[in-house]
Amino acid sequence: MFELIDQLESETSGVRKRAGMAENARQGYFNGSKPPFGFRVEKVATSAGPKNKLVIEPTEAELVRELFRQYLAGGGAKSTARHMNQRGLLYRKHLWTRDLVLRVVSDSGVVGTYNWDRLDSGGKRIRPESDWIPMAVERIVDDEIFQMVQELRLRRDPGRNSRRLPSSPLFLAGLLRCSLCGDTCQLESSGKLDANGEPYRDYNCRRFCRSGKEACAGYRISVDTLDSAILGHIAEHVFTAERCHEILRDSSKTSAFSDKRPPNNAGSSNASATNSASASSAGMSV
Ligand SMILES: [Zn+2]
Repeated sequence: MFELIDQLESETSGVRKRAGMAENARQGYFNGSKPPFGFRVEKVATSAGPKNKLVIEPTEAELVRELFRQYLAGGGAKSTARHMNQRGLLYRKHLWTRDLVLRVVSDSGVVGTYNWDRLDSGGKRIRPESDWIPMAVERIVDDEIFQMVQELRLRRDPGRNSRRLPSSPLFLAGLLRCSLCGDTCQLESSGKLDANGEPYRDYNCRRFCRSGKEACAGYRISVDTLDSAILGHIAEHVFTAERCHEILRDSSKTSAFSDKRPPNNAGSSNASATNSASASSAGMSV
């Protein structure tokens, strides 16, 4: 009962706190500590005490304009990220990624309306538009340019309108590592189609895919080529006919044993002994 009251109280105070922050935003004050890119936080004195305002940060604002120019001229968010990184025009000391570019070019804060509470508390998901509290800020980019970029974005960048890659599993996902930087490899696809109308699929270094060749030179290899080479090697050296016979023999012993095992019962020590025996004879150390 007391717990319930506690919970109600904390929920009520949470609601009250959010209402206060919403009012704060409506009056043009920033809740939070990390300003959106292009802005910095400035403390101002008010009758209700010191509050935070977003003001333009000139160096970052110039990078925002350059980002928009590059996006209009280039081929999408990823190539924009690469261009910026190549020229050393970084995002607060970090390399640009495709997601960062999309976040900045789609934020209406750059045209004078920053939406407070656009993202949920985790900062990942976008809340319904009715929850946003618009807050007036100084403008960094012209409306026409902003609009053009939004239209291009819908056409160019995957997520909302592009066809998804076929979801066939990546055989080596999570196992392959880039020999240059040690990061994992991921699926890379330009969206271009091969002669069969299927998208080209390659493995490449995750760092290269996200931030371009300034982060890592990367190494591209076709998914089909590498998968079949590795499967071929496994078939030839690991699953020899002899080994396959052993595995089949052992697994039939194991399943015969487990079939007889009474349900929900102990006696699992025997079963695991059999299992580990079959694993070692199957040559799993290879
Ligand atoms: Zn790498």
